[in-house]
Amino acid sequence: MKNFDFEEERVKQEILKLGAKRVLIQLPEGLKPEAPRLAKAIEKCDVLPLISADPCYGACDLATKEAESLGVDLIIHYGHSKLVKYERVPTIYIEARTTVNVNDAVQKALPILEEWRKIGLATTIQHVQTLDSVRETLLRSGKTVMIGDAGRLGYPGQVIGCDYSNAKSIANDVEAFLFIGGGKFHALGVALSTSKPTIVADPYEKRVFLVNEEAKRILKQRWASIEEAKKAKSFAILVGLKSGQNRLEEALSFKQMLEKSGRTAYLFTAREVLPETLMDFPTIDVYVNTACPRISLDDASKFQKPVLTTNETSVVIGKLSWEDLCKEGFFES
Ligand code: SF4
Repeated sequence: MKNFDFEEERVKQEILKLGAKRVLIQLPEGLKPEAPRLAKAIEKCDVLPLISADPCYGACDLATKEAESLGVDLIIHYGHSKLVKYERVPTIYIEARTTVNVNDAVQKALPILEEWRKIGLATTIQHVQTLDSVRETLLRSGKTVMIGDAGRLGYPGQVIGCDYSNAKSIANDVEAFLFIGGGKFHALGVALSTSKPTIVADPYEKRVFLVNEEAKRILKQRWASIEEAKKAKSFAILVGLKSGQNRLEEALSFKQMLEKSGRTAYLFTAREVLPETLMDFPTIDVYVNTACPRISLDDASKFQKPVLTTNETSVVIGKLSWEDLCKEGFFES
């Protein structure tokens, strides 16, 4: 996997500095194929590497329990920037920045961007280092460029699946967003949380496309799920068990609000929220997802019952209007 910087020299230095002897390696799905190679390289530092084979979708899912039960003295977490405060086992974050050239994809985006002058930039951790050069390219083609920095995430312009605050902080000042990165999930999040035209410049596929038609389709689905939930009587509130997804207090508050509105509400805990496991509870009409909001967006069609985010549930119980929801964001926690 040549397109990512795994900072192998830094990893070795950190291992030596900490005198680590047993190390837990954790990678997100797309980077997992590199795990055996990285483990072998680490082993040369006289260290026992353990590879976490469990799914890992974000830095919210730091393998803290596994590390403690295995007695490791260092976690190496790849592919994300720090999100949860955890100090019991030393942890280093290797952000796996991409080395792929984004310029071709950005050049391809210029004709599509022609109808707008003020452009906001957004991207994932893998590409934050490219934003300055993307800005230069856009400035040269006569655009005004903004990169949001709301102060919640590690880098200006960065977005994650449950935090689009950087994009939202400049949404009123730009006419459209250019998202740099692979796939459409994060770009859809930008479009849904800003209501602005959002163009993806995908440097891996060298593809450029608008996501707004798909965002409109998602909005219709979310509207339908909320309307279905308004008529429902039995709710289960999902509490995530991953280190950065446990929102028990928020779940309790939704339980109380739902009960106050005449519904029955239960608290369910889950490490992974999967369509097949929720099928075991046929008496539940609606799930309220306090864990990862990505589940409600990415997997919506796979669930047989509505799986609402907390902001959507606030609309069901009358705490937010649809307009407020569009402003607050559907998939943010
Ligand atoms: S979107 Fe989900 S997986 Fe990603 S950081 Fe947020 S809670 Fe974690």
